[in-house]
Amino acid sequence: MRRISIFGATGSVGESAFDLLMRAGGAEAYHTVALTGGRNIARLAEMARALRAEIALTAYPELLPELRAALAGSGVEAAAGTEAIAEAGARPSDWALSAIVGAAGLRPGLEVIKRGGLLALANKETLVAAGQLVRDSAAASGARILPVDSEHSAIYQLVDGEKLESVEAITITASGGAFRDWPLEKLASASVAEASCHPNWSMGQRITIDSASMFNKALEVIEAREFFMIAPERVKVLIHPQSIIHAMVSFRDGGSVAHLGMPDMRHAIGYALNWPERRDLPVARLDLAELGGLSFRAPDEIRWPALRLAREVMAAGGAAGAVFNAAKEQALDDFLAGHIGFTGMAEVVEETLSRASALPGFGESPRDIEAVMGWDGEARRLAAAGREG
Ligand code: NAD
Ligand code: MG
Repeated sequence: MRRISIFGATGSVGESAFDLLMRAGGAEAYHTVALTGGRNIARLAEMARALRAEIALTAYPELLPELRAALAGSGVEAAAGTEAIAEAGARPSDWALSAIVGAAGLRPGLEVIKRGGLLALANKETLVAAGQLVRDSAAASGARILPVDSEHSAIYQLVDGEKLESVEAITITASGGAFRDWPLEKLASASVAEASCHPNWSMGQRITIDSASMFNKALEVIEAREFFMIAPERVKVLIHPQSIIHAMVSFRDGGSVAHLGMPDMRHAIGYALNWPERRDLPVARLDLAELGGLSFRAPDEIRWPALRLAREVMAAGGAAGAVFNAAKEQALDDFLAGHIGFTGMAEVVEETLSRASALPGFGESPRDIEAVMGWDGEARRLAAAGREG
């Protein structure tokens, strides 16, 4: 039986993965090693019982008694805390899904990579904050990483069997998020509730707001550069309101191939789960005649300064990715808490990048997880201080 682990099982991506596993036979078909979650203990315990996991872990130590109680009599071990979650990454498995949101997803994923495992990577923050470290560790251990972000899964499927030097450009699409058609002057006063609606995808709240601000696409541009090692200027963004084309690869001979599908994360997760095979997946089939048309437009860098910042981060290299990601996470926390407005997020991130770039060592890629987390903490401090004045 294939041994699997899910980091962030109770989230949006984690739930989709759980759905696929249950449809494919659940505990009869897969041996589940570890499942991790956050505050939703009841759901975590329910999933761990259904999949007969070896261990279930919550990020929060104060919730361990509740988790133990919820798992009583099930035979599933309970554990808690950041350290325990990272250690669970080191437990042998044949397939591990990294679907924790934010920089908190870095350590368990890196543990999987260090032991030479197969990592299905939804946590885009990993490659943004620690791209060089991830590549070096994977090269040393022989780990394989399969992208689960829909655009990157699409690119992975498109470049399969092609030489990367034949690729002229990679285009990832963006729906444009909640504020694609809002008047620019209204953006500054956009509320959390308004930013938390996505036109096409159902996702966690943080990535949904990042889609409205285009920080999600900014992270994805960097993720594409780090994953495929393609020059930054060859990674392009295209606004495509219907989210049917996920990515397109253009070759040096003038041909382009695109990946299409209904917006449902179970395709990208299932592709990584079944790789290198393709199996039936319960996603709605595409009917282009029914859709009638697809539309496209160029991204607007005034509306979405995050895209310009992504270019600056790629040009700077070194610790810029770790700083960018952490500053964005802090700015998002501050927006959610009502401390800053929607457009204030990009201002905080830009200011933080500028301040961090004056610090010693900024130009060097972080060599280990401690260095990555050092920049992460520094960026959060700078971002919070910048907000206060
Ligand atoms: P989510 O908020 O729905 O779920 C996040 C999961 O991480 C939950 O299980 C939560 O308990 C856990 N978690 C949160 N904070 C944690 C912490 N500090 N320590 C340990 N665990 C913690 O998020 P999501 O939308 O499923 O996204 C997960 C990741 O996948 C993100 O990196 C996101 O960018 C990426 N992603 C998501 C989608 C999507 O459709 N939702 C698509 C592409 C990529
Ligand atoms: Mg995506």
